[in-house]
Amino acid sequence: LGSSLRGSLDKLRGKSRIDEEDVQEIVREIQRSLLSADVEVDLVMELSDNIKNRALEEEPPGGTSARDHVLKIVYEEMVDLVGESTDIPLEPQTIMLAGLQGSGKTTTAAKMAWWFSKKGLRPAVIQTDTFRPGAYDQAKQMCEKAEVEFYGDPDESDPVKIAREGMEATSDAEVHIVDTAGRHALEADLIDEIEEIEGAVTPDLSLLVLDAAIGKGAKAQAREFEDSIGIGGVVITKLDGTAKGGGALTAVKETGSSISFLGTGETVQDIERFEPNGFISRLLGMGDLQQLAERVERAMEETQAEDDDWDPEDIMKGSFTLKDMQKQMEAMNKMGPLDQVMDMIPGMGGGMMDQLPDDAMDVTQDRMRSFDVIMDSMTDEELENPRIVGAERVRRIARGSGQEEDVVRELLQQHKMMERTLKQFQGMGDGDMQRMMKK
Ligand code: GDP
Ligand code: MG
Repeated sequence: LGSSLRGSLDKLRGKSRIDEEDVQEIVREIQRSLLSADVEVDLVMELSDNIKNRALEEEPPGGTSARDHVLKIVYEEMVDLVGESTDIPLEPQTIMLAGLQGSGKTTTAAKMAWWFSKKGLRPAVIQTDTFRPGAYDQAKQMCEKAEVEFYGDPDESDPVKIAREGMEATSDAEVHIVDTAGRHALEADLIDEIEEIEGAVTPDLSLLVLDAAIGKGAKAQAREFEDSIGIGGVVITKLDGTAKGGGALTAVKETGSSISFLGTGETVQDIERFEPNGFISRLLGMGDLQQLAERVERAMEETQAEDDDWDPEDIMKGSFTLKDMQKQMEAMNKMGPLDQVMDMIPGMGGGMMDQLPDDAMDVTQDRMRSFDVIMDSMTDEELENPRIVGAERVRRIARGSGQEEDVVRELLQQHKMMERTLKQFQGMGDGDMQRMMKK
């Protein structure tokens, strides 16, 4: 599917004007992808109309080809469709999970606890499911694997009492994640129970957990949970399967919320924060990742110039800090598999990549994830000036981030190597640089 969208877009190559037929064909390809990813028909139609209207009415900015113009519109409308990620502050809070049985709540509770612990916060999972036999053992085991605090009571049948006692028993924890029971279908007693638990734990945020394969059922569930406890975000689980999770977008619209986390497997580490770009690529099919990533990159450069004092070109002019490196890694992470975006890194685009020594950017995605966690444990001063990081600081950072000291040192090495490589380019004139970056 993705490749046919690419085909339609490629037909626009060289055209400066776009006609209705071109737009129609592109929109049809997008519709096909989205519908097969379970995105609700109404949402698909709305997106289609927006793309059509904008593509035909808006003047491409000077020098922009018809193809680039349409791609930019498609990307912007897709971002609008999937929304931004739910804001999850890294601070003490209580989060409650709701959803039907089997949607992945218990698994998500342990995963989120693991995620918070990697961010340096102390989490606890409180298991209030007294409905499903084995719920206690399952939650307990997963929390053991995640090495996070767990509270449950297999001998107590009142979930509200467990919730209340659990909050007290885990009062030392900074982040409380409250897992709840589900049912096979929406039933009044489930809603009553979850409302009472909500009253007992007063969550800062309630998340609706949905299986990626959810279709039409998303709407009713979202409405019901929104009306009873108020939904601040959606978690989509089982994205490692064939389902693409488009049905969950209905729940997002229905609750006026956003997607927070994605579940991508059965182990506690298989959790990702939602990122619009990756999700869009998933919905449209990987075939279009590259073209989209190009648009994404440009869009990101624009936003970065607007609302951030980070400018990729500064790297070429002055110092290359760890913050710069982190920004580059974030940019790469947002855009998907490394090999596909290697030559699209802001500020290092196009031909420049070919001129870098092979090992200068040789960081695997796993490593990048570790680096990211490590950098989150560093002070601003250390990020600005990594040279001050000596043995003692390495030890502290390793402890804070839960990473090996060797990996911290490796990060510092990597930074040095990138910095050295970039220095070689700094001697060039601005014109050369611009030409290379445009390529
Ligand atoms: P709950 O009833 O909502 O608490 O759902 P569970 O957390 O017990 O999950 C139901 C089933 O889905 C279990 O077998 C989980 O291992 C599985 N599961 C949950 N999340 C994921 C995921 O992201 N990927 C895969 N492959 N399986 C998942
Ligand atoms: Mg459960």
